[in-house]
Amino acid sequence: MEPVDRSTIWPYDERGEPGRFYYSRYDHPAGVAAETALGRREGGDALLYASGMGAETAVLLAFARPGTTVALAECCYYGTSKLLGLLEGWGISYVEYDQTGEPPDADIVWVEAPANPVLTMPDWEALRRHRGLVVCDATVATPVYLQALDEGADVVVHSATKFLTGSHDALLGATVTRDPERSARLREFRGSAGIVSAPDAAAALVRGLDTLDERMARHTETAAELARRLEEHPAVSLVRYPGFSGLISFDVEDPRAVETSTELILNATSLGGARSTMESRHRWEGDRIPAGLLRFSAGLEDVDALWADLEQALEA
Ligand code: PLP
Repeated sequence: MEPVDRSTIWPYDERGEPGRFYYSRYDHPAGVAAETALGRREGGDALLYASGMGAETAVLLAFARPGTTVALAECCYYGTSKLLGLLEGWGISYVEYDQTGEPPDADIVWVEAPANPVLTMPDWEALRRHRGLVVCDATVATPVYLQALDEGADVVVHSATKFLTGSHDALLGATVTRDPERSARLREFRGSAGIVSAPDAAAALVRGLDTLDERMARHTETAAELARRLEEHPAVSLVRYPGFSGLISFDVEDPRAVETSTELILNATSLGGARSTMESRHRWEGDRIPAGLLRFSAGLEDVDALWADLEQALEA
């Protein structure tokens, strides 16, 4: 395997000209290797960032300006609405809408496939009819279950911190687009704002992509089985599962009691790792989501061991 080059500088050539790499804020070898691999998976031009939120920030810096309106999928990742709320001071406004139907008129439509944590999917036909720039956060679907650019997205966003790297040990974001002008604009803002990936996180993406298909198949198999068992559990009032990937959300009366009673499942935020995680989202999102909602990310552990842990926690 390629060793990870953590240099921030590469000397100019004998004529004093910069080579392919010269300063790591613009590009570095591990980043380019990972972008090539992700771009191949997505069928577009991939760029990496310091985090998923870094990727989202780059998209808004590149394509929004004072007066821009954004239609945002309701109950999608909380951080996205928070960022858009902060940018209201920059003259960017947003409204939330039900992404299973027609988006309202807007310059940018921002959907999430599926939405974290309510797990709805966007209406692609309605998006293809829309005049605005379509941005799709495909973090939970991954390219294994969704080719968002083929469906009609103009820009795909990933938190590669989740399934794409898959081990809860790399903070990383990505955008993918097929339009060279959009790609150049994103790259310019990334370099100028310095929202660049760390070489080690980029190398984690190269490794993660090597096993992505196998991991996603296992996440899906486990999550589908656990969703089925949760449906039948008397302490669970509602289960949301889109039928693919590793994320489930379900409602219970006392989510704090359940999340703090697990032993195998980590009571932690985030999703998409080899270790299962579960948390009440109310602590972060307040009344935006149901008070009893638990978000569970199925890891790669044995399904019966996970069920035994969930069952004993639900008794609690
Ligand atoms: N998009 C989704 C769907 C997420 O779940 C998250 C984080 O949880 C993000 C974006 C932000 O990514 P990051 O935490 O890598 O900045």
